[in-house]
Amino acid sequence: MFIFAHIGLTLGSAVLVSKVFLEYRKRCENKLPVPSRVTAAPSEADRSYSKKTGLKALSGFLDVRLLIIGSMLPDIVDKPIALLPFGNGRSIAHTALVLLVVLIAGLLLAKNLRKTWLLAIAIGMFTHFFFDSMWSSPQTALWPFDGLAFPTPAQRIGLGQISLWWSTLISNRSIDISEGIGLLIVMGFMWILVCERKLKSFLKSGKI
Ligand SMILES: [Zn+2]
Repeated sequence: MFIFAHIGLTLGSAVLVSKVFLEYRKRCENKLPVPSRVTAAPSEADRSYSKKTGLKALSGFLDVRLLIIGSMLPDIVDKPIALLPFGNGRSIAHTALVLLVVLIAGLLLAKNLRKTWLLAIAIGMFTHFFFDSMWSSPQTALWPFDGLAFPTPAQRIGLGQISLWWSTLISNRSIDISEGIGLLIVMGFMWILVCERKLKSFLKSGKI
């Protein structure tokens, strides 16, 4: 997968999970006996798309900017390495070992210091690992337990690697579809930010 698929599908799945979590919490709250509950009309903020979609709740828990960066981080690290005389675009940052270390550190930081910045990056890296189907490349995913070497590239490294990525992008139908879906989600996300005039505050603070 490439940029839009990783960012879009990560955003989409994170929003979906936060939406399910919100609904579950709402149902639990509704089961509690409330003697004299007054049903107030939904406010303008309640009707906003960011609230309806669960995007607002997600940004209350995680910095969505870091989630997006995390969703691309393995490629940001490994793709430039592939231009050197080793690596194939999926090496050290695509391993389960690195993912686990970042994830555990993120969980510890969130639990002990209530800082979720590293957890946001770790969740993004996890979705990248998942959407790259890394289980189909066990030599990389299980490094170094399945051998110290990473798989050798199918085509010559260096600038030839860039043309290989480009030809894969334009010739592989499943990649086109996932990139298209991802692009639609990213556009929807941008549309919500622009419509609700939250683009600036999002870029500054990660809050929506
Ligand atoms: Zn990747």
